[in-house]
Amino acid sequence: MKENLKRVQENIARAAEKSGRTAADITLVAVTKTVPIERIREAYELGIRDFGENRVQELLPKFDAFAQNTVNWHMIGHLQTNKARAIIDKVKLIHSVDSLRLAEEINKRAEKNKTVSDLLIEINIAEEDSKMGLSPKNAHELFEQIAHLPNICAKGLMCVAPYVEKSEQNRIYFEKMYKLFVDIGLRKMHNVDMRFLSMGMTGDYEVAIEEGSNIVRVGTGIFGNR
Ligand SMILES: *Cc1c(COP(=O)(O)O)cnc(C)c1O
Repeated sequence: MKENLKRVQENIARAAEKSGRTAADITLVAVTKTVPIERIREAYELGIRDFGENRVQELLPKFDAFAQNTVNWHMIGHLQTNKARAIIDKVKLIHSVDSLRLAEEINKRAEKNKTVSDLLIEINIAEEDSKMGLSPKNAHELFEQIAHLPNICAKGLMCVAPYVEKSEQNRIYFEKMYKLFVDIGLRKMHNVDMRFLSMGMTGDYEVAIEEGSNIVRVGTGIFGNR
């Protein structure tokens, strides 16, 4: 794991430099789905502080395994409306909001907790039938609606790019994501603070960073095959 992590961090630094930034501008989220707690601790010992899970049932016991505020948990998978309550006081960022209904539910729960929940809007950038996320053409409308919800703050966009043989094939989608991210940011809406562009996984994080990503979600590249 130590060598995997070193390689990933070097690749991140190189890609960041290509886009005029440094490794410090990129957050590496280590994706821990199916990874047992002992291995997550190992990653923690190696300095990782941001972890991503895609299922609520898996996130909760892992959350409990660490002292509060020692790690940042990211919810990166589809979130059912009725499960939002279980995690909103536990996660730093929900990457996968793709409906007004879910945004409203998170807003309601955050209001009860007297907090503001940070979230990203998930975009189905290649408009694949198999993927979650909002069609890019509907993104502006959702942001306008979210602007009325005071207990959430939309901090950016997330996507899961298509599964491809060569990462270069996803460059066009990452470019599209970046454009959408900039366009929405320029509109200066309430409760919207466009800071994070979460894109890039083990197969394509370098290309994603070159195209402007500042959060990459890497599982296999750190922990090996699931
Ligand atoms: C599993 C997963 C990842 C990490 O995938 P790897 O290919 O193992 O790096 C990233 N994002 C989401 C939403 C995932 O579900």
